Amino acid sequence: MLVNENLVQDIVQEVVAQLKISEPAAKSRGVFSDMNEAIEAAKKAQAIIRRMSLDQREKIISNIRRKTHENAETLARMAVNETGMGNVGHKILKHHLVADKTPGTEDLQTTAWSGDRGLTLIEMGPFGVIGAITPCTNPSETVLCNSIGMIAAGNTVVFNPHPQAIKTSIFALNLINEASVEAGGPDNVACTVEKPTLETSNIMMKHKDIPLIAATGGPGVVTAVLSSGKRGIGAGAGNPPAVVDETADVRKAAQDIVNGCTFDNNLPCIAEKEIVAVDAIADELMNYMIQEQGCYLISKEEQDRLVKTVLTPKGLNRKCVGRDAKTLLGMIGVTVPDNIRCIVFEGEKEHPLIAEELMMPILGMVRAKDIDDAIEKAVWLEHGNRHSAHIHSKNIDNITKYAREIDTAILVKNAPSYAALGFGGEGYCTFTIASRTGEGLTSTKTFTKSRRCVMADSLCIR
Ligand code: NAD
Repeated sequence: MLVNENLVQDIVQEVVAQLKISEPAAKSRGVFSDMNEAIEAAKKAQAIIRRMSLDQREKIISNIRRKTHENAETLARMAVNETGMGNVGHKILKHHLVADKTPGTEDLQTTAWSGDRGLTLIEMGPFGVIGAITPCTNPSETVLCNSIGMIAAGNTVVFNPHPQAIKTSIFALNLINEASVEAGGPDNVACTVEKPTLETSNIMMKHKDIPLIAATGGPGVVTAVLSSGKRGIGAGAGNPPAVVDETADVRKAAQDIVNGCTFDNNLPCIAEKEIVAVDAIADELMNYMIQEQGCYLISKEEQDRLVKTVLTPKGLNRKCVGRDAKTLLGMIGVTVPDNIRCIVFEGEKEHPLIAEELMMPILGMVRAKDIDDAIEKAVWLEHGNRHSAHIHSKNIDNITKYAREIDTAILVKNAPSYAALGFGGEGYCTFTIASRTGEGLTSTKTFTKSRRCVMADSLCIR
């Protein structure tokens, strides 16, 4: 039998990668068996961090960036292996994005007034130890991104990560603490517990030394945090609609929407979850998606089977979240070639595969008679999350009207959704978009307290 050399090399690489992943870190820094101990350790580390100069803090941050780049592939593979969700290649890109575009200490800007009565400054200072709850959909991306912003602001952080992504989260935390120690900073700048549970989360939320909690996840966790009696940053669920009107470049819209929807198998909360297309271009859009963008059109009968597979009486079937289109179709007995990357169909807005936030590459298209109808349907589909929305249009009035009506933290025009994270668009990156509490795309300054510093009748030299 002739053995294909490339195939052998691929298999060897895969085995080596798996071996690397299963190797436990020599010592996982920042990991405790007890939440109170984790908070205590982070508190001691914060006492050191707050006395460090901005320059020293920035050295820690650049070390975290370097280690994130170096370990992007390991983290991506680890997350896919542990959670069963997502796409390794796309997760690698997400880690590089976090490393390159998450703001550091430069995000801390001082506001100043000077005049006859002296000089007044608003300085941004740390809260102390922040509690952070992170999702399984972007586990290490969120841990790394949160840590960069929180530490750059002079805080330390205690995580209660999603239990299904604990190994990946611990691997990321170890890198963060190594980065700090190597840059002359303290250990335990980012901590967690070996076994995060709702109980450890409760301890964290009630702890006297946690003044601020940042929750990234679905509606349950955001509500829990906002009921904690502490200040909370709530980065909750979305169900972003992509509106396409008759002025759009329809071919490009098909490409952008499918690219955004299929990125990391639709796990990002900002990703296109459904389309609302005006009647004049709806058929053309669907045609481009099927003919040019690797979309598979499912029949009514296949839709029904998919509904039963994907949605259970208790909610989303977690075995379907973050799976690729071919795997999802395989689950309902449909075999498709490897180039199929998205499942499409047309339906009413109330269709369960359209109205629910699925986090799978399934794109239902809702037909609208005109832009006003499209906006009304899109607003309904966003469910008041005020999270993300997208539009493909060249009509400024239509775009403006949509932006005002849907009122989301993110609105991407004429690009894939990931442009909102600075990937193919301007601006910085975050994996915590505070939709519910209104901070929007979080960054270093989000994790600071505002302090007014007044010097009366002096230091004005104008
Ligand atoms: P999830 O809500 O199941 O879990 C998120 C985190 O919250 C986990 O750590 C989980 O253990 C914890 N948690 C859940 N319920 C809790 C409760 N009652 N009390 C305390 N902790 C609780 O979400 P997931 O499946 O990991 O992530 C997907 C969801 O997160 C989607 O809805 C997605 O839109 C959302 N999300 C939002 C953002 C954002 O920036 N707004 C980013 C990523 C994901």
